[in-house]
Amino acid sequence: MRRPMVAGNWKMHGTRASVAELTEGLSNLVLPSGVEVAVFPPALFINQVIDGLAGKEITVGAQNSAVQPEQGALTGEVAPEQLVEAGCKLVLIGHSERRQIIGETDEVLNRKFAAAQAKGLKPVLCIGETLEEREAGKTLEVVGRQLSSIIEAFGVKAFASAVIAYEPVWAIGTGLTATPQQAQDVHAAIRGQLAAEDAEVAAKVQLLYGGSVKAANAAELFGMPDIDGGLIGGASLNADEFGAICRAAGN
Ligand code: PEP
Repeated sequence: MRRPMVAGNWKMHGTRASVAELTEGLSNLVLPSGVEVAVFPPALFINQVIDGLAGKEITVGAQNSAVQPEQGALTGEVAPEQLVEAGCKLVLIGHSERRQIIGETDEVLNRKFAAAQAKGLKPVLCIGETLEEREAGKTLEVVGRQLSSIIEAFGVKAFASAVIAYEPVWAIGTGLTATPQQAQDVHAAIRGQLAAEDAEVAAKVQLLYGGSVKAANAAELFGMPDIDGGLIGGASLNADEFGAICRAAGN
């Protein structure tokens, strides 16, 4: 039985004051006990959020980490080793904004994935197709290729300690959500691809859906058999809305 997970990606939002307010709102939430809840603040606020959530069952993760596990000469980056020391347990790898705007390639993402795991930081690998790719009927090819990149480099067992987030690029921050069936179809294909290599890994890995999830559509999406929760962007910036999404995953 897979534990549902709801994770909030705060992206590049926040000031000390707004982060304090959001963290306090999260501290006051009544969260369902069976759901793993996580937040990904901007790196600058990770310490503040970890301190603010002390004693609360919310895991804190980073939105990015370096291609090498240890601290060293790599200007502007944060090493997995440093994130672990700060108290992070998870890291987003391959969010579409980083693939598209920063230009991160599968090769770079493979290095980040391995560096994170080398220090015990669990990667949340984000994969998904653009609208153009979906309209060209290439969704499963694109998502399959992004997944294969990790499998070919490290073997399918790498997913025994990772999470996968399927995030159609056309649904991120647009208000357009994949229908539960569209999302389920891709999630089933992802699990099928893993199962072809290792049935146990496939059965256990948490597959999250991301793309304009809100309290109003969360329950329907999370009710699908291969959707184990969500990666939430915009709606995670409001503690009450985020709490309602977490409760939807608990039902
Ligand atoms: C995201 O950034 O991962 C995301 C899913 O954003 P949103 O929920 O705002 O579409």
